[in-house]
Amino acid sequence: MTPATQHALIAAMAETIIAHTDDLTALDLAIGDGDHGLNMRRGFEAVLADIDNLAGQPLPEALKSLGTTLVMKVGGASGPLYGTLFITLAKELPAEPTVTDAAAALDKAIAAVKARGKSEPGQKTMLDVLVPVQQALALGGGNLARRLPAVAEEAARATVPMHAIRGRASFLGARSVGHMDPGACSSAFLVAAACGVLE
Ligand code: ADP
Ligand code: MG
Ligand code: MG
Repeated sequence: MTPATQHALIAAMAETIIAHTDDLTALDLAIGDGDHGLNMRRGFEAVLADIDNLAGQPLPEALKSLGTTLVMKVGGASGPLYGTLFITLAKELPAEPTVTDAAAALDKAIAAVKARGKSEPGQKTMLDVLVPVQQALALGGGNLARRLPAVAEEAARATVPMHAIRGRASFLGARSVGHMDPGACSSAFLVAAACGVLE
């Protein structure tokens, strides 16, 4: 990946989170403590502040730094989980990944998030977006970067009827039904942003 593409990729992810702060906050106000938008914005503002440095590093190093920044700055439940996701991607991805490499690395990164969160898909979390995106990536086929945002968006919407079993929303029990999971939504924004650049 050229430094310019890497710059665009990181900027797109940070900018979509910053642009959607209020949407993520509103979702987390409904079924959590209302901080997911601000948590994610704080993390990605710190990423943006370091973007020139990140863009110039080989992809694995850049992803490792980005993940470490998210762990330090996002906080909440989502910071360590997104941090684990990016840091594991950093460990697993070669500097010039193919789609097959990306699918394999995302599979490992999801396994690390599951282990860290003691969670599985179906529990109304970010995993409910990450897992179907990984599955679509692993299946491959044409126009992946065009198709994955729709997969992610549909998967985020599919968290609406779910009953939360992990995270703060689980405290609401059945009252979590009827709202989209904030972390599923932020994951869908990140997937759409990354695909928009890699298309
Ligand atoms: P907090 O809940 O600590 O305030 P955030 O609001 O930033 O943290 O993040 C909440 C999101 O984190 C949830 O919407 C969910 O997607 C994700 N999440 C929380 N706990 C888990 C878990 N155990 N496994 C996977 N994802 C989780
Ligand atoms: Mg929260
Ligand atoms: Mg919180």
